[in-house]
Amino acid sequence: MTPAAASPPSEAPRHLPGQRVGVLLPLPLGGTYDYRVPDDTALADGDFVTVPLGARKATGVVWGKGQGSVPEAKMKDVFARLDCPSMPEVCRRFIDWVARYTLSAPGAVLKMAMSVPDALNPPKPVSAYALNPKAEGFRMTKARERVLKVLAEGPPRPVTELALEAGTGPGVVRGLADAGAIIPVQLPDRATGLEASPDWQKPGPDLSSDQARAAEKLQEGTERGGFGVVLLEGVPGSGKTEVYFQAVAEALKHGGQVLVLLPEIALSAQWLTRFKERFGAPPGVWHSDLTAAQRRVTWRAVAEGRTRVVVGARSALFLPFPDLALIVADEEHDPSFKQEDGVIYNARDMAVVRAQLGGFPIVLASATPSLETVLNARDGRYQTLLLPDRHAGASLPEIDVIDMRKEETPSQCWLSPRLRESLVETFAGGEQAMLFLNRRGYAPLTLCQTCGHRMQCPRCIAWLVEHRLGGRLLCHHCGYTAVPPARCPECKTEESFAACGPGVERLAEEVETVFPGIRYRIAASDTVTSPRAAADLVRRIEDHDIDLVIGTQIITKGYHFPLLTLVGAVDADLGLTGGDLRAAERTYQLLYQLAGRAGRAERPGRVLLQTYMPEHPVMQALIAGDRETFLEAEAESRRQTGMPPFGRLAALIVSGLDEAAVDRTARDLGRAGPTGDGVTVLGPAPAPFALLRGRHRRRLLLKTAKETNLQAVLRDWLGRVKVARKVRVQTDVDPYSFL
Ligand code: ADP
Ligand code: ZN
Repeated sequence: MTPAAASPPSEAPRHLPGQRVGVLLPLPLGGTYDYRVPDDTALADGDFVTVPLGARKATGVVWGKGQGSVPEAKMKDVFARLDCPSMPEVCRRFIDWVARYTLSAPGAVLKMAMSVPDALNPPKPVSAYALNPKAEGFRMTKARERVLKVLAEGPPRPVTELALEAGTGPGVVRGLADAGAIIPVQLPDRATGLEASPDWQKPGPDLSSDQARAAEKLQEGTERGGFGVVLLEGVPGSGKTEVYFQAVAEALKHGGQVLVLLPEIALSAQWLTRFKERFGAPPGVWHSDLTAAQRRVTWRAVAEGRTRVVVGARSALFLPFPDLALIVADEEHDPSFKQEDGVIYNARDMAVVRAQLGGFPIVLASATPSLETVLNARDGRYQTLLLPDRHAGASLPEIDVIDMRKEETPSQCWLSPRLRESLVETFAGGEQAMLFLNRRGYAPLTLCQTCGHRMQCPRCIAWLVEHRLGGRLLCHHCGYTAVPPARCPECKTEESFAACGPGVERLAEEVETVFPGIRYRIAASDTVTSPRAAADLVRRIEDHDIDLVIGTQIITKGYHFPLLTLVGAVDADLGLTGGDLRAAERTYQLLYQLAGRAGRAERPGRVLLQTYMPEHPVMQALIAGDRETFLEAEAESRRQTGMPPFGRLAALIVSGLDEAAVDRTARDLGRAGPTGDGVTVLGPAPAPFALLRGRHRRRLLLKTAKETNLQAVLRDWLGRVKVARKVRVQTDVDPYSFL
């Protein structure tokens, strides 16, 4: 996967009045539409413009000369150029590249880059609050104190931002306003705290010799510029973040913008705090939980080059950086970098492309790099920087398995006697523990004890998960909810339902029985729903207000809690089932990351994995701390089967409301499938979720040799089949999910 020969950046070509220009609209259409440049206007490639589209007005981007898509007589004038920085040439090339690679309409990719239409108009003044120096005699609370501290340390800000930074609700800020402690001021939109630039001159911590060596290499690469991929590999707690902060500083020093991609950025309060401490100012933040105002301000500030560092989720790749000079993809192996709907792409891979097109370095950081990345590093395509030890001599935790076949765990209980004992010891020692179970809710399955009926989602082929705290049954695939029925819908027996298997809520119930008085919190995506809730949870753990965290995978990432010394995986086998190509690799990564939460400071950590498969290579690798052997075996089996990264895969997902039509299209695609050397088509087969959100789904999998031009094969194939109306065919190049 390398971008087509990157053409050197050029001055954007200008288009004069009367000339034909192509305009790309953020819509899933074939290509650009031609418009005429109006009198008294000169347009350049990348300009944002409004144009007539049928009876509507649409906003798009000037995308080169007109291609003759509209006959002269029918061609309409561009309405106007918007008062907004043009989209940089490299961003436009990136959009075209992503569209070609993913077989998406360029307009669909552009849509991701134009996700904030409001930002294209000049900013309006916003209401903010400033400290009232004369205020006195109002009631003080902890939350109010935090808000005032935030204001004392920074410029006036709008209510939502103040609340967010102080880790409280907007009501607290309004309360302070009512009490006269803060006063309203009008700010031009731009002055919303983003203009404080991170200070690269602020000294970082003293680095260990390993860290310093890695940091120097990164700095050199950043100073030199030019494309290159560096794998920064280090055990959890080795200081990868500190090290890549040095590269960030270097890029800033040379006037570049920086993008740090982080999975679960919305929950990364600790990362933000560290960044602010290191650079004296917060970065711009980009993820889907921002308010419309935050998105508008950030998008514009990035486009105008005022925001120098952005930390974001995968969609941040499509921000219009004019001076991007460094990307860091932290936790590069993380599956959440893969976007699964709309334009299906892997942000880690596309970030590498973005760096190549922009001609600058990219850092991939991880304690458990993906097999793809490891092999790229071995082949010398990527440079590797290793941090072999935890910072400050903290030792890696001891990892042990608990063989659940031998443990006598009471029925309807999920904590083995051994894990219970370890928890007792941990709490007795005044330390903290974490229990990991990657299942939200109370129980994954609700079953009628009389007739065996299973509560299923009517729109998906999936069981409904009981959420006892919320008092409902919930489909984790489509969000369908139902109140648990009093009687079985099948046999009509009353109160006959039994919960099968544990979720985090049920585990909490057991904890309450076994450890009365233990202060615990459940951490799952439905209990930690906002950055504020995440920050609050982190603070409570740091302050030791909590003895035990019971959580799903959202707790496995990046956190650093010095008192946390015991980590227990309640069902370590959970990810190993299912036919996923990367099941073993992912389980290894997840459990290793999880283990990395334990014993990060002076107190040594312990990790206990409850498993029914203690001899599984994943468990063996974890116990022995031997990733090499595991990766070797994993690579060998993929090599033999021609699976990625030794071969290439693409999936076609055929879906629609009408099952017969879906089947017909899937069969037609199957019959028209490409043949030839090293090309195989598997399917059509019902997708594992053959019914999802009310849509019937079939899958076809294309497997080719590594050298094959997969996109050409796909394009040719899709071109040969007529897709029934109302049937959708989605292309997933390099699939991660096999659902
Ligand atoms: P990683 O990203 O590899 O998991 P971090 O960068 O989060 O590791 O470092 C783990 C902890 O050690 C953090 O609290 C960090 O601040 C601290 N740390 C790492 N390197 C240093 C250093 N050179 N000086 C001081 N603290 C450090
Ligand atoms: Zn559903």
